[in-house]
Amino acid sequence: LSQLFRPLDMLGWVYRTIRQGVIDMGAMFDLLDTGAEVRDVAGAPPLVVGDAGVRFENVVFGYEPDRAILKGIDLDVPAGATVAIVGHSGAGKSTIARLMFRFYDVQSGRILIDGQDIARVQQETLRAAIGIVPQDTVLFNDTIGYNIAYGREGATEEEIANAARGAAIGDFIESLTDGYQTRVGERGLKLSGGEKQRVAIARTLLKNPPILILDEATSALDSRTEAEIQATLEAIERGRTTIVIAHRLSTVVHADRIVVLEEGRVAEQGTHAQLLRANGIYAEMWTRQAREREEALAAE
Ligand code: ATP
Repeated sequence: LSQLFRPLDMLGWVYRTIRQGVIDMGAMFDLLDTGAEVRDVAGAPPLVVGDAGVRFENVVFGYEPDRAILKGIDLDVPAGATVAIVGHSGAGKSTIARLMFRFYDVQSGRILIDGQDIARVQQETLRAAIGIVPQDTVLFNDTIGYNIAYGREGATEEEIANAARGAAIGDFIESLTDGYQTRVGERGLKLSGGEKQRVAIARTLLKNPPILILDEATSALDSRTEAEIQATLEAIERGRTTIVIAHRLSTVVHADRIVVLEEGRVAEQGTHAQLLRANGIYAEMWTRQAREREEALAAE
């Protein structure tokens, strides 16, 4: 992914994607926006990742100066733990992911990785340390092998195949007549939502980052595909510090901690069981989503 941020690559990429129309436009504008605003401070050292613990200290941020989205967020993601961020639509969950990548600078407060302020280290090294499985995966009109290898320059065929197997899409690819040489995208094979997510997971496995951000797809996959993807994700979370941006609560039950955002602040946090007992915002969201799931099942 760090490739995407180099200006020249970026131009080529933007040209190809506009021409081919295969990209989520929102994601593209997010990326374009940022390169211009956020710069390395002079002489910034590289980020040195040890255990990969992440901390937000009193982070205040808004896209417009007079409209704060995050109003003083304290967040501790211990090394190797999985922390899920939940909250109503527009609460600022995806904003937290964008700030981690330093797409934007915070207005006040700090974001630390192993004690280093991310605003003071080389961006390239920051972005190399973080893998993201986004809501919408960008596919290039190229081979499926290329699309996976995009996670890391110079990956060998064997590494690509291992990543595909780790993402549980290896068998599917091998069953295609042209295997990894099969073209995907507009003029090739159309992948389903679940398959695209698996490509994103395979990319991330190839990159092998110590920190993982999972921005859960908002568009619903069918429940079997969702459960399968969920199992794959839980496997790749092991040994990595993981932040899950969750839109559906059914996917965060296993998190070490769940953080509930409300009106720009952390309103509640704890495990699933603790938050249900607390009988607050999370418990209310859980009851509502459980009812919606039941209604959806009854309608099937
Ligand atoms: P959802 O669950 O619906 O995806 P979210 O909790 O992830 O929502 P964010 O995407 O973080 O919410 O957005 C938080 C707020 O910031 C929203 O009010 C949104 O309209 C606003 N916002 C997001 N991106 C921008 C932007 N580029 N410029 C201005 N405002 C923005």
